[in-house]
Amino acid sequence: MNDDRPLILVVEDEPQIRRFVRAALEDEGCVVEAGSAAEALEAFTGPGPALAIIDLGLPDRDGVELIRELRTWTMLPVLVLSARSAEAEKVAALDAGADDYLTKPFGVEEMRARVRALLRRQKVGAGETVTEFGSIRVDRVHRSVTRDGIAIHLTPIEYRLLGALLTNAGRVMTHRQLLKDVWGAGYAERGHYLRIYIGHLRQKLEADPARPRYLLTETGVGYRFQFQDSAT
Ligand code: CA
Repeated sequence: MNDDRPLILVVEDEPQIRRFVRAALEDEGCVVEAGSAAEALEAFTGPGPALAIIDLGLPDRDGVELIRELRTWTMLPVLVLSARSAEAEKVAALDAGADDYLTKPFGVEEMRARVRALLRRQKVGAGETVTEFGSIRVDRVHRSVTRDGIAIHLTPIEYRLLGALLTNAGRVMTHRQLLKDVWGAGYAERGHYLRIYIGHLRQKLEADPARPRYLLTETGVGYRFQFQDSAT
């Protein structure tokens, strides 16, 4: 047993789903199970988990409320598991501070990939100054972007939008979060700005802008920058 593995907290009241998640994540970390929000909070005494997977329908409290409480004192990555497929529910969980979500039923490989992306995000994080993906290199100290070594011009808004997505790589950013980060608090309802500027970024950065590999759309919810996982 390798004790260097990250602790992964699984908050889920259905034992068979907990067992499924535990078995699926054997290679990614050491799974700690909680059947309720109260048990989940107990798991933070001692060496805290590196990531939490949280079901929204818990017996004692709503999962969104639990996420909101966790966010008052921890920035650990949170992946939501939910039977609620409505976009408004996903947006509520993401705006409460979740990083990503999976709708039940979900595939094992998809869950592993999301978990790896979130664990890696902790390692790269906001301190990263140079980011490379595909043939693109973004240098955030010199504010330069190159494609195959050739400089690409980004407008200030495009650059800020790319920065917000890269800082949150692997994480779903809701329309509201991106509009607030890039344009400011008064712009939360201007979803069409995002569509236009994401389109510009794809034209400049994606090999095939119609089939983006990195700047992904989360339909009805927002956008995600996804590094391509070589392990999948
Ligand atoms: Ca449940």
